[in-house]
Amino acid sequence: MKVRVRLAPSPTGTLHLGTARTALFNWLFAKKEGGTFLLRIEDTDIERSKEEYIKNIYEGLQWLGINWDESPTIQSERVNEHKQIIKTLIDEGFAYKCYASENELDEMRETQKKNGLAPKYDNRHRNLTQEQEAEFINEGREPVIRFKISDQKLISWNDLIRGKMTWSGKDLGGDMVIARRAPADLIGDPLYNLVVVADDSAMQISHVIRGEDHLANTAKQILIYEALNLNIPVFAHTPLILNSEGKKLSKRDGVTSISEFKKMGYTSEAMANYMTLLGWSVPEGINERFKISEISDIFSFKKVNKASAKFDWDKLNWLNSQVIHEMSAQTLLEILDPLFKENGWYLPNQEWGLHLVNLIGPSMVLINDGVNQAKPFFEEPELSYDGKKQLGIKESKVILKFILEKLENSDAALFSKDDAVDLIKHVTKDCNVKKGLVMKSIRAALFGTLNGPDLIQSWVLLSRFSKDRTRISRFI
Ligand code: GLU
Repeated sequence: MKVRVRLAPSPTGTLHLGTARTALFNWLFAKKEGGTFLLRIEDTDIERSKEEYIKNIYEGLQWLGINWDESPTIQSERVNEHKQIIKTLIDEGFAYKCYASENELDEMRETQKKNGLAPKYDNRHRNLTQEQEAEFINEGREPVIRFKISDQKLISWNDLIRGKMTWSGKDLGGDMVIARRAPADLIGDPLYNLVVVADDSAMQISHVIRGEDHLANTAKQILIYEALNLNIPVFAHTPLILNSEGKKLSKRDGVTSISEFKKMGYTSEAMANYMTLLGWSVPEGINERFKISEISDIFSFKKVNKASAKFDWDKLNWLNSQVIHEMSAQTLLEILDPLFKENGWYLPNQEWGLHLVNLIGPSMVLINDGVNQAKPFFEEPELSYDGKKQLGIKESKVILKFILEKLENSDAALFSKDDAVDLIKHVTKDCNVKKGLVMKSIRAALFGTLNGPDLIQSWVLLSRFSKDRTRISRFI
């Protein structure tokens, strides 16, 4: 069988982590099988679908390195085909018009609730006589279209992740609505389950890989495939992603969309790596740190867990720091320089920039850490509580005065590591103070805090701008 898979996002929001993970599993499977990975934009909810979300979805996938084959199918452009299929279903007796009003349906559900029953459409308009139907039309009622679901029907499929699945027709909520309300002589807007079957079939999708929240939809869709006598694809339902409290990851957890992770400073490589691990266990002997292009030939649904995956920030952070630490200084600078420029920070030259990233890179976990850590090299830093305390010490002023005098006679452009080391030695001796005190005083004056990367190297870099003098002079 020629493998053709698809991602079918609804552009009613930005690219969600769960959708991106589904995209990855589809993409990996297509790569492994030498198949095709397609995209379908499910934009039939006109009010909630937005062009900016379509753009966000495309950009997010591209950023993650998930490229699709062929041009995307736009679901709303196929509405005539969908309506044609609904007409066929009505003509062949699989679907019918239901005139029950919203009030009547609410009453029905209320009664069910009172009797301790789950809400379910009671199929009351499944067998209307022509006279009854004419009466409803006369009353000006607009029907929905419902697809018949027999309570006795058992629906089964072999899920690539979950094994044999069986659903009973009686658990599917009664005859399902496949088209919204519209005047009786028309067909209203076609709805999700119908449309998905129509499109997956038209796109010749061989495997439907999506989240386990679609299990009941799969059962319903299989009934539509059967009614239309279409080939039924193979299904694989991926586990949910849960937050640390074991609840489904949602907007309430803060960051859930790929563009937000990007904004926070996560790399695409770490994100793609981490999302693959959300559900997939690496085979023995394979490192958990990988590029998705490296694992496509070993990816298999056999190693995708049925159990939900818990989102683990520590692991994502660890992977992100690994990715950053593996980057060459050149690459890291190419990523950071545009962010520096956004802040109005310009490198004096390339070599200086490379030194800077070599200095700050090893402690970066997020790309944004690089911006925060570079800040005092470009802007006068604010004094932290510890920095202020340090500079309040009497000896600190003496030390800084001494240093400033020496610096006045040196050329900032030539100030070297050896110069810095010598200077610290001199101050320690001449002022008769401890080296630690000298170091802390310099750091506090130059960078505002007592922690940071190697002081000597930081100082040398900063001195290239002659900023060390102005900063030191503030405190004496
Ligand atoms: N538009 C649906 C969603 O975003 C697609 C589900 C499917 O893959 O069939 O959940």
